[in-house]
Amino acid sequence: MKNILVLMSLFLSNFILSAQKSYSESSILMGSSFEITVVALDEDFAKESLAIAKKEIIRIENLISSWDQKSETSRINKNAGIGAVEVSKELFDLIFRAQQISKLSSGAFDLTFAAVDKLWNFDGRESEMPNPDALKASVFNIGYQLIELNEQSLTVFLPKKGMKIGFGAIGKGYAADSAKQLLVERGVLGGIINASGDMNTWGTKPDGSSWTIGIVNPMNNKKVFSWFSLEHNAVVTSGDYEKFTQINGRRYSHIIDPRTGIPSQGIVSCTIFAGKAELADAIATAIFVMGVESGLFLIDQLPDIEAILIDDSGIIHCSKNIEIEEN
Ligand code: ADP
Ligand code: MG
Repeated sequence: MKNILVLMSLFLSNFILSAQKSYSESSILMGSSFEITVVALDEDFAKESLAIAKKEIIRIENLISSWDQKSETSRINKNAGIGAVEVSKELFDLIFRAQQISKLSSGAFDLTFAAVDKLWNFDGRESEMPNPDALKASVFNIGYQLIELNEQSLTVFLPKKGMKIGFGAIGKGYAADSAKQLLVERGVLGGIINASGDMNTWGTKPDGSSWTIGIVNPMNNKKVFSWFSLEHNAVVTSGDYEKFTQINGRRYSHIIDPRTGIPSQGIVSCTIFAGKAELADAIATAIFVMGVESGLFLIDQLPDIEAILIDDSGIIHCSKNIEIEEN
């Protein structure tokens, strides 16, 4: 009897797997190309699910946008040095978690890096380094410890005029986690949220096999150099090959070292594997600033996080549980 049950359930699961299909939709969200894929039995359910995920990402974009003058984030920034701003519990919690990541990374990841935002464009328009005095003045306004969070009143205060927060290094990850969570709660058994190469997966492909991801070597004509299989996991890459500026023949990435206000150098690509895209996103940025040695030292102490770094000489460095099979 037991054998028959096992056979029946095998038959059933194969039947379900064979009827499942994946459905995808691409759109530009948060200034990046997002491709959302869901695995489903029914096309209408799949389409509704894709729409729900997209709506969620837009909702978060409106919450954390520094461009949208009406966003909660802009209100916090406009009131720097003036007064505390009451925000939603969601934004408050996100800032709180960001503070924890700042502590973990000794300030390499820091939302207040944005005080130097206007000194750099990273769109190829720069021809010279920002004025050193302007840089110094901006760095004076960087410091995650300065952000005043009041849990009772749910208020955020940036105590210095000129202070500013920006979610560029964590927002996409948070949005991908939130969209994924909504879809999981809705009963979508598998899918991928791909935000310009930052992947957040759950479940399996329609045929029941694991999602796989290829890691690209930016030094080698974008050739995939290793494949990993993923289940319920996020993989995020911060690289200087998409957004950077060149001054006097030197390449500067869009990741700012909060100590100097100048883009960090030394690492050209940092890929982080973690359970949540939010953490992977923020840590990838932090490791960029920390450099190979301190970065890997941190990763090797954290549970369930792995890293693959490529330095500016093209050398690949991995955290202790990663083995690369070159092909
Ligand atoms: P990508 O946008 O390529 O995924 P990241 O996730 O690494 O790259 O985020 C880089 C963005 O993070 C920058 O464009 C900027 O908005 C922001 N940022 C830069 N330096 C820092 C830093 N030290 N701490 C926090 N955020 C930063
Ligand atoms: Mg990041």
